[in-house]
Amino acid sequence: MHRRILVPGVLASATLLLAIPASAASPSPGAPGIGDPYYPAYGNGGYDVTHYDLRLKYQPATDELAGTATLLVRAEQDLSRFNLDFLLDVSEVRVNGVKASFSTSGEHELRITPKQALPKGAEFTVVVRYRGVPSQQKAYGFTSWHRTPDGGVAANEPEAAWWWFPSNDHPLDKATYDVSVQVPDGTQAISNGTLQSTSSQAGWTRYNWRSDKPQATYLATLAVGRFDITTGTTESGIPILNAYSKDLGEYAGAARASLERTGEVADWLTGYFGPYPYNALGGYVPGTDTGYALETQTRPFYSPRQFANGSNVSVVVHELAHQWYGNLVSVAAWKDIWINEGFARYAQWLWSEHEGEGTAQELAHHVYASHPADDPFWKVKPGDPGPENQFHGAVYDRGALALQALRNEVGDEVFFALLKGWPAKYAHGNATVADFRRYAEELSGKPLAALFDTWLYEPSKPSESAARSASLTPKRQPSAPPKSWKKIAATNNIHTGRH
Ligand SMILES: [Zn+2]
Repeated sequence: MHRRILVPGVLASATLLLAIPASAASPSPGAPGIGDPYYPAYGNGGYDVTHYDLRLKYQPATDELAGTATLLVRAEQDLSRFNLDFLLDVSEVRVNGVKASFSTSGEHELRITPKQALPKGAEFTVVVRYRGVPSQQKAYGFTSWHRTPDGGVAANEPEAAWWWFPSNDHPLDKATYDVSVQVPDGTQAISNGTLQSTSSQAGWTRYNWRSDKPQATYLATLAVGRFDITTGTTESGIPILNAYSKDLGEYAGAARASLERTGEVADWLTGYFGPYPYNALGGYVPGTDTGYALETQTRPFYSPRQFANGSNVSVVVHELAHQWYGNLVSVAAWKDIWINEGFARYAQWLWSEHEGEGTAQELAHHVYASHPADDPFWKVKPGDPGPENQFHGAVYDRGALALQALRNEVGDEVFFALLKGWPAKYAHGNATVADFRRYAEELSGKPLAALFDTWLYEPSKPSESAARSASLTPKRQPSAPPKSWKKIAATNNIHTGRH
């Protein structure tokens, strides 16, 4: 969903259109990728999805998923053909109610040819009927659908959607969602947003979830399993729903002691980032053997292992910070990952400060001092890390260090105005690292290209004089880490170990 201004008077101009050809160009196929330099095949060109309606049925015993996806779409060119990204077996595709021909190609392309070409600007409906066993589907040699003893989970970055719904799988194309899932009685289906209703019939229960604000495809999540559910409300009035697998065993207490802080943390973050952007909050911990957490919209996914050493509110801070930095404002391309991870990590530093476990300045010092110049850590450029290092620790730690350097350069008043202004400026849209630099220059009135280059783009450790001029006085010896260091480091496998 790219935001657009709708032009009134389209009908009035229809008579004029009759006089000239509807389109000068002949319809052509939409591109098989949206144009992301890291992942050329991800997403698709030529159209924009505004809404996904997913009506699914899932059997935990066999991992069988069957569904009908209805997509509301707008053509962005004269389309003879277009692609969706998907892996399950498709039995029928209809475009505007009429059967369309389809075939598969590449690693995850579903190629759809409508009976009639779609003119640029046309709103159209695509219905895809499908079924399959997600855990048996692979692309590029991996599956990102997680089987659990009691069901299955879709939560990964950047790849998650292919295993459960056909989509234009790139953050540039956000949409609203209705996700309706039928599961056997006694099992729950968890997704994003608000639970609108449930109904039971003949041994099956249907859960109807709604996300009414634009959401990137990788931020859509589905978890089926047996959960204990808790509900509440933040001080500011946002409803909270958390779900804990009944199989968390020894991790159950620590998981709850962390996620039950969700409302408090979200309210605290509004002080830095502005009003919480959605109408639902929460988190879920399914019975997966994964290690990472993910900021799935309104309802982050947390692996049980995040709580192996006791509660970790810091990881909750990280995933909730993404609701502004990553979800409300999303990357324009995956190379812009720093506008997500640098800020989510920095939020953990602010939380450390709040808890009296080390200031952001102390944590920044520690990052700078604890990695010697020959550490490969400094080879990673957080501003453009490459697909192989998209979730490298340096994107997080050096990324947050860069923000401390910026804070010291522009001063607290401008820095915190930036933190709050950015989510409002690009709300429900996409942005780049360069957009952030320009915004920081605008607000501070200072040229910042050199600072961004030193801290985000140089494939080497910033010099001691650079550190000194960023008020990050270099230390000869690494000092003892701030108290929060271990807990923050424990979230370092946030997105690693994926696939
Ligand atoms: Zn993150």
